[in-house]
Amino acid sequence: MKLMISSKALYSTWMYYSPDRMLIDCGEGASTYLGNKSFAVKRVFITHGHADHIAGLWGLVNTRNNAMGDKEKSLEIYYPKGGKSVEEFINFIIKVNSDLKYNLSIRALDVGEEVILHRTGSAQRVIRPFRTHHTMSEVSFGYNVYEKRKHLKPQYQNLCQDEILKLVRNVGRDEITVEYEHKILTVSGDSIPIKLENALDTDLLAHEATFLNKNDRKGNNHSSIDEVLELAKSARAKAVILYHISTRYERRIKRLVNKAMEETEIDVPIMYVHPSKIFTLN
Ligand SMILES: [Zn+2]
Ligand SMILES: [Zn+2]
Repeated sequence: MKLMISSKALYSTWMYYSPDRMLIDCGEGASTYLGNKSFAVKRVFITHGHADHIAGLWGLVNTRNNAMGDKEKSLEIYYPKGGKSVEEFINFIIKVNSDLKYNLSIRALDVGEEVILHRTGSAQRVIRPFRTHHTMSEVSFGYNVYEKRKHLKPQYQNLCQDEILKLVRNVGRDEITVEYEHKILTVSGDSIPIKLENALDTDLLAHEATFLNKNDRKGNNHSSIDEVLELAKSARAKAVILYHISTRYERRIKRLVNKAMEETEIDVPIMYVHPSKIFTLN
């Protein structure tokens, strides 16, 4: 299992990405469902401070303190800088859990910052927030996960191993390599369709699609399925996961998704998170 998502618009949304043991959002019920896996979570990235995305934080922090599991493991929570309700809620959680047995660190993130998720040799996996458009009262972020690698500059690619090692000794590794990054995951959070540049060439686009019928879309806070599929096409996303789907469509999701796929003539895999089922991707 690489990705596990539970998402029911206005009730609860959380997403567990197992390669980096991180949660994106932590709606109600996250730790209840994750059970033992709650102890595996290293980092939580919050998209915005609405209750359906943060209500499970208290449970997660508390479960990690009291349930059977490794209490030595630290937990890091990241949230959008300026996100007042997230901050207030986390402060409350810390206040009522003054005897935490593990290290809990909290950090406000800003656009332009990145967090290293994983490092092997010169390769890294990192996460970066980007700004989204949701409600006026809450600052909201989406997240991109990138894989970064160093490649030899073209002029050095035909050299043999000995020649390369010699160059590394003489001029240093940085001089003969270029950094290359690839977007492997894009998560929208709650938003109208995210900007094209944020979704461009992503392997997997997990985008909210609150409205599966474009005629139901009201206000300017959420996305409808046709907008998301058009974005995915323009962005050349290799696969799409629709989440944060309104419960009003519960019994006709498949039909509505198929209809939108036909209308937009999109030909990449489109998956969706049913509001009352846990979604998994291997
Ligand atoms: Zn929401
Ligand atoms: Zn929201």
